[in-house]
Parts: sequence; structure tokens; C-alpha cells
Amino acid sequence: MGTTFENETIVVTSDFETGNGKNIQPIAFDHFRVEVVGDAPGYNHYFGIRIHEKSSERRVIRLEIVPDPDHARTLVPDFYGNLNTKIWYTKDGFDKDWYQFYQLPEFNFEGEGEVKIFRDRYLIQFTTVPGKTVWLTNMNPIPYTQMTRMLNEEAGKHPEILRLGAVGKSVLGREVNLVEISEGTGDKPVILIIAGEHPVEFPGQWSVWGIIRWLISSVPEAVRLRRNYRFYLVPQRNPDGVVAGRTQKNAEGINLSGPSWVGVAEDKEPDGHENRELWTFIKKHPPVGMLNFHGYMGPRGNGDWPCEGCYVPFLEDFSDPAARRRQEILNDILIWETQAVSQHKQLCMVNRGEFLYTPLARRFGAIGCCYEPVDSQGPSVNMKTGVGVLQAMVKALAAAVG
Ligand SMILES: [Zn+2]
Repeated sequence: MGTTFENETIVVTSDFETGNGKNIQPIAFDHFRVEVVGDAPGYNHYFGIRIHEKSSERRVIRLEIVPDPDHARTLVPDFYGNLNTKIWYTKDGFDKDWYQFYQLPEFNFEGEGEVKIFRDRYLIQFTTVPGKTVWLTNMNPIPYTQMTRMLNEEAGKHPEILRLGAVGKSVLGREVNLVEISEGTGDKPVILIIAGEHPVEFPGQWSVWGIIRWLISSVPEAVRLRRNYRFYLVPQRNPDGVVAGRTQKNAEGINLSGPSWVGVAEDKEPDGHENRELWTFIKKHPPVGMLNFHGYMGPRGNGDWPCEGCYVPFLEDFSDPAARRRQEILNDILIWETQAVSQHKQLCMVNRGEFLYTPLARRFGAIGCCYEPVDSQGPSVNMKTGVGVLQAMVKALAAAVG
């Protein structure tokens, strides 16, 4: 799938699950330039590269990553709106743990790694070791195969609480994993939690993974919630995109978020194969609340650290006054009890276009939000962020209204 440069001494490639990079060019013996493969302007920021030293010599490698010039917003391509602060690496395999590049001195096997981040390029420098491989990226990934493996392990350990199924298959035939978490029998209100519409927005996928781990834990509030609600979680809505390391689209070239959902409340079918499968599922299991996790690379320049994004439906989308009041309460809880302060003047209520939450609000009175955790905070914080956003929603659902 990816692109590979190889000569007698080195391999530089994006050809692995979650890899991204094209036009890999040697500028000098030790200096390579790689272009990101973007999907749209603003979605030209993610890279995943593997480097293997074939020679018997160590060398200082310089890797220059540039945004996709085919999806530039301006004449000078830049990583528009995506302020990167972390480069991640692993030496064990793309589906193993990734570490912060510049916080572990052993990274380069010698200790002289260096990263420079500019508006229009990253410069990454490190020393190779003969026969060794390293993977580098700027979004700490959960590959689809890894997520599927972890979900299967949890399903095996907690069969009485967690069941693994699928919301149909992706365009290329991959199962779209569906996790059901609930304890005990009987009808319960449904909460739907999804991530990965934009495939490389891994912070949101870490958030859902965190929610799954928390919901099956012995934390008393988690036990109470799984007894009171039926949770359906889709941690990777776009598995083909995750595998291909795509920034925005599915295998048909459709953006599964935003415009795909316009008109769906008025009975139009959503655009995109995986969306239609999900919508069929939702109509069978209408939720009272929905969380949709995406993910920023780093803080946006127009907000305060950590500048996580949060979008919510319009209050006018709710015909039931009690549901409208609950959404209003959710908005306040998000503002004051999460990091959803992406724009310090408007707080979380920005960019309220039509998302999946719009037909859910209009058709079922489901409250919800679209939340963007930040990769710079790392997966363990992203996981807790997910739990915090879920706690915000269940508080709003339980609030006395009317
Ligand atoms: Zn997104």
C-alpha cells in the first residue's frame, strides 16, 4: 500500500499498517525527504515511516517530512491548524508500544536524536544501528489489528460484561468492531460511543479504548453505569482508513463525518458505506446519548493549552424540552469539567455544523458531542479524557429537568 525507497544500504518505507508517506526521495546519502499523503486541505499532516539500516555502518539520518502539496490551503503547503508537539517512535513493531522521541535518551541507541518542528516541515535526526529498524510517527497509533486483538482479549476475560460483534463490514471487507458492555439483563437505555471516522485521529480511539477498560473495571461508578445502561462502542469506524494511514476518508473516498450526515434527520441515507451500516444499527438501537471522538494532533493556535475541541448539536435540534435542557446541562459540564476549551471565548460551542449528533438529536432526542482529545497529551491521558467526557454525559442524562 505504502511507498518504499530502498538501496543497498537502507530502506525508508511507509508500507505498513498505519504508515503514511509518498515521494520518498534521497536528498543526500543520509538525508531523505518524505511527503505526507493527505486527503483534503487541513488533512495533510500525518506521517508514519519505517527505516531499516541495511549497511554495517551507523549513520546520522536526517528525515524531512513535509505536508502533502496536493492538499495545500495556500500556495505554500503547511500543516494547517495542526500544531505538532510530539514525535513518537517504536523499535519493536508498529503494533507495539510507541514512545516519545525526545524524552528517552536511548532512542537513537546512541542518544543524539533531535526534532525540529516548523510550520511547513519536521526535521528528525537520529543515528541508525546496523541491522536495526525504527518506526516514526506524529500520532501515537492504535493499528486496527492491535485494537482487534485487544478487544478479543477483553471479550475472552469478561464474557459476562463485554461482548464483541460487528456493525457490518468496511468497504474492503474488514469487520467494523462493535463492543457491547452491560451487566445483567433487561431493557436499558443505550449509550453509543464511536471514534475513528477520521482514521489517523488516534487520540479519540485511545479515548474509547480507555472508556472500554474503565467500564469493565471494578470502579464503583463504572459498575453502576454498566448495570444501568447498555453501551455500544465502535472504537474504529473506518478500519480501512486506519490500515492505510488515511487522514480523513474511507476506501470509497468519503469523509464519514460532517457533510455525510446532512439531511439524514429528514430521511436521506447518509453518504458512505460504513455510515449506512451504522445508521441501520442506530435505528434498531436508538441511543439516549452519543459521544463521537475525533482527535487533534496538538493544541490549536487560537486556544489555550491543551485546547481540546468539542462540538455540540444546536439546542433547536431538540423538539423535546427535557432533552434540550439535558443538552444544555451537558454543554455546561463539558465546559467546566473537561478540557473542552478549544476557543476560550466560545468555549466548546464552536463549529456546530451537522454531524452524526444532528440526526440523533432531531430523530431520537439523544444528547451528545463530538470531542477532540489531543495527541500531545499521550494515550494514557487520552484514555482518561474519554472517561471524563462519558462522566459528563451520564451526569447530564441523570440531571433533574423540568
Ligand atoms: Zn476529525
